Amino acid sequence: MKVLMSLGIAALICVAGFHMLTDSPEKLRVSQEPREASIEPRETDTKPAPPAVQPVHTAPEPSVFTVPVSVAEISGTRFLELVNGDHAVSGEPGAVVSAWPAVPVSTKEVTIHETALEAVSGLIAAAREKYDSTFYISSGYRDAATQRRVYNEAADKAMVQPPGHSEHHTGLAADIFIIGIGQHDMAGTSEARWLADNSWKHGLILRYPGSKREITGIANEPWHFRYIGQPHAWYCVQNNLCFEEYIQSLKSGGGYTAELDGKRYTVSYQVPENGLIYLPESGSYDISGDNTGGFIITAWE
Ligand SMILES: [Zn+2]
Repeated sequence: MKVLMSLGIAALICVAGFHMLTDSPEKLRVSQEPREASIEPRETDTKPAPPAVQPVHTAPEPSVFTVPVSVAEISGTRFLELVNGDHAVSGEPGAVVSAWPAVPVSTKEVTIHETALEAVSGLIAAAREKYDSTFYISSGYRDAATQRRVYNEAADKAMVQPPGHSEHHTGLAADIFIIGIGQHDMAGTSEARWLADNSWKHGLILRYPGSKREITGIANEPWHFRYIGQPHAWYCVQNNLCFEEYIQSLKSGGGYTAELDGKRYTVSYQVPENGLIYLPESGSYDISGDNTGGFIITAWE
């Protein structure tokens, strides 16, 4: 599984380009103690087990997040920013690259965040081992002007976000299609089910399942995948959470620990107090704002 970032405290000096906290921090108070998830990662290729109704947490462990750092002095990946009808993109993504030739594309103009491309490339390579079909990306990063055109031309606005609110603007989303299967025929195909069931292994989630339409505000899109990394993608699938629900579960639960692919992850959700969040004293970790006023710190060993 891809290692996201390893940031030492020494590296946490002021880095430009960190776009966070565009919205008012929510009033919700949360524990900064990580909590243990009772569920185990799955190693099989089979369909995910019936999800638990709700993540179950046991007694919190002593916190490993002990070092206060000013949010003005940190740089994050932004992999966990929530972008939807209520939350506009926080800024332009860095590290956007051409998707071609790493993966098949509908046009060589398709670009995407390099980390998302690595994930999608892995997913498509795995799909190719299962199917003879050609899986390809038709859309990755979209700037505001492109999104405005897509939105204006869309016959069904239930499948498109207005400019500034599209996940494609983050560079972390990809529309994956299969040659020979039309957009409106994709739902229910074996290939679409396989993508939905296996995307989490590559840090991707099916962002708009039909069952979550009331929450996401977007109709079923079996082609639209979003990179959020691990253990977040695994946790969403195991607990049948769409991304909105996942962020809310972190806010209310404070975090969790999980063992996955030989790594022990500790996830902490923090709302800055006095401009500070708390990071581990040592080890590997990744920081991302959630675009709603909080920060998600993912530590692993
Ligand atoms: Zn899409």
